[in-house]
Amino acid sequence: MTEELFLEDSYAKEFEARIVKLEGREVTLDRTAFYPGGGGQPADKGSLGIGPVGADMVDARREGGNIVHVLDRAIPGTVRDLRGTLDWERRFAHMRYHTALHVLSGVIWRNFEAKVTGGQMRADRARMDFSFPGEWTADVVGEIESLTNEALARERPVRVYELEREEALANPDLIRTQVNLVPERVKRVRIVEIEGLDTQTDGGTHVANTREVGEMGITGHKSKGRQNKRIEFVLR
Ligand SMILES: [Zn+2]
Repeated sequence: MTEELFLEDSYAKEFEARIVKLEGREVTLDRTAFYPGGGGQPADKGSLGIGPVGADMVDARREGGNIVHVLDRAIPGTVRDLRGTLDWERRFAHMRYHTALHVLSGVIWRNFEAKVTGGQMRADRARMDFSFPGEWTADVVGEIESLTNEALARERPVRVYELEREEALANPDLIRTQVNLVPERVKRVRIVEIEGLDTQTDGGTHVANTREVGEMGITGHKSKGRQNKRIEFVLR
């Protein structure tokens, strides 16, 4: 099983690891700080190398309990250890957008009792879909934008911790995020809590405080059916 360093420390930009398996351009490591993608957050990019040997890491994915890193070229089979370096600008942008999505989700739940149905982040934009029962006007969207920016400006700490599955199931804040859908074999669930606003089970990487997100601006909104609404936004 690959040790997932990003779960403990989302700010790890570099790490050293041992090669567990090397097959063509694909390498499995005993530990990694590269996020393999999931929950709407894209896989990281960066580089892996040692001494004169090096390659760009263009993609990553989970495979069983391991994380497989896809390189842009093969590296010699004699290499045993590698140093990984993240494309930090890109990853930090994903962290800001991911935390912004949770703040937005907390706001529309608190103020409109609307539940999130999906979300996707990029390094320069994000979108969120939710089930919104009311009228979907420019005024409502503008209100969501100012409420979200107010919440971000409160400099709320973002806490990451684990709960026993039973404890998580009993937590009323977690019910709307469908913690009951977490597979039963998972005994401990990872929680991301934006203090006083939003608590979710989540495997992604986040900033430590909403002040690092900055300000969001809604760039588009769509109604995709009576209940299903979409918001697109950028961070400044
Ligand atoms: Zn999330």
